[in-house]
Amino acid sequence: MTVAVVLFTSDLRLHDHPPLRAALASADEVVPLFVRDPGVHAAGFDVPNRSAFLADCLTDLDASLRGRGGRLVVRKGPVLQEVCTVATECEATEVHMAAGVTDYAHRREEQLRDGLRAQGVALRVHDTVVTAVAPGAVTPAGSDHFAVFTPYFRKWSQERLREVCAAPRAVHVPDAVQGEPLPSRDELSDISPGLPDGGEAAGRDRFSRWARSDLSEYADRHDDLAGDATSRLSPYLHFGALSPAELVQRARERGGAGADAFVRQLCWRDFHHQVLAARPDASRRDYRTRNDKWRTEKEAAKDIAAWRDGRTGYPVVDAAMRQLRHEGWMHNRARLLVASFLAKTLYVDWRIGARHFLDLLVDGDVVNNQLNWQWVAGTGTDTRPHRVLNPVVQGKRFDAQGEYVRRWVPELRDVAVAHVHEPWRMPEHERSQVDYPQPLIDLGDGLARFKRARGRD
Ligand code: FAD
Repeated sequence: MTVAVVLFTSDLRLHDHPPLRAALASADEVVPLFVRDPGVHAAGFDVPNRSAFLADCLTDLDASLRGRGGRLVVRKGPVLQEVCTVATECEATEVHMAAGVTDYAHRREEQLRDGLRAQGVALRVHDTVVTAVAPGAVTPAGSDHFAVFTPYFRKWSQERLREVCAAPRAVHVPDAVQGEPLPSRDELSDISPGLPDGGEAAGRDRFSRWARSDLSEYADRHDDLAGDATSRLSPYLHFGALSPAELVQRARERGGAGADAFVRQLCWRDFHHQVLAARPDASRRDYRTRNDKWRTEKEAAKDIAAWRDGRTGYPVVDAAMRQLRHEGWMHNRARLLVASFLAKTLYVDWRIGARHFLDLLVDGDVVNNQLNWQWVAGTGTDTRPHRVLNPVVQGKRFDAQGEYVRRWVPELRDVAVAHVHEPWRMPEHERSQVDYPQPLIDLGDGLARFKRARGRD
């Protein structure tokens, strides 16, 4: 009787799961293992919204495994110690897992490889689990990664994707290996009230419904803030409850401009992964320094607090920041403009904004969050690093009727379309009826400071 362990990390699904498929092909029994590593807690990544979503994903994965005769084994402790212990208990010869791109994932992989080798167990690491195309699979001449999206997208689009693998019919888990009770979202507090349900079943259901209703119009509607017509699949992708390779292929099968635009967004995800895989320190340091002397938490405490609380006096910024708190999620266009407002208009260190996002976002991940923040701050891969988004212009363009603002900023519910993005322009007798702050900063002053800082005045 041969046994293999499958270590689940950011790949909490049964469909299209190459490590599980390989383990089932090579062993008679398989231990599906998830380790709750205190190292993740110490790094500040197990915030309530993601912990709740993770608990849902684990519960769903366990239920799906039980439906196939198996179960999920959950252990708590340092990942190396737990994997080695489980491998000993079940006399496994192999451990399978997905390749990661962060510093943490690289270290984990190295430690596991060495630790397992010492007990005669092989570690098999599989790519194209967390991304559709493996980081490093396509590179430009003379570099280990693409630093600009469009040429990456061109090459990425020509890559032949591996075949999508079906979910297994049966999984036999050795009786000898026991786990801890599954975590539950009911044990957690401070969860955003509008947080969606996690899990592979919920993610697959969401994709199928969204693909039928909104995918065809995605190209035209993805920037419409009030329309909320994007897929909202990001948390399922973050936890690997959905496979990016499968989504790309299912979207391509449907075809059309909407599907093309959606696949392009999924490519952005792979793009950031291949940047961070090559430059793991980009999660902390400027990818391309502009010699910024950012304002710090101490210098800009009042401005940062107003931004976090959605009290800047710029309605579309405030709406977005309140959506983040309420749902643990924010529309992409809104992320762009609130990040530009903090990093450029208020000239606050992008890491401060990125940390706040990571504290609340249910899809918050080091790869996409830090690199998108760098993109907006102009220290990343944006080819126009000094552009500044004007929140009034953005609001009028992407929330023309002010519906998004009214949804999240109830103080402005009764304000007319003409003033909803510029309430300070209301006649005084109307303005005095509304309990809403004056703008935190004059946009012209913010722009001038930023231009000066970048040596472009
Ligand atoms: P859709 O529009 O339906 O797109 C489909 C999928 O494509 C998304 O689920 C996502 O996986 C991927 N995608 C779309 N846009 C991007 C992008 N710019 N970069 C990378 N992948 C993308 N995304 C995260 O998953 N986690 C984060 O922590 C994160 N932080 C961000 C921070 C900032 C400042 C900005 C500007 C963007 C950030 N994004 C992040 C990217 C993007 O905003 C979200 O992926 C998107 O809004 C999720 O909504 P959706 O699933 O409806 O996206």
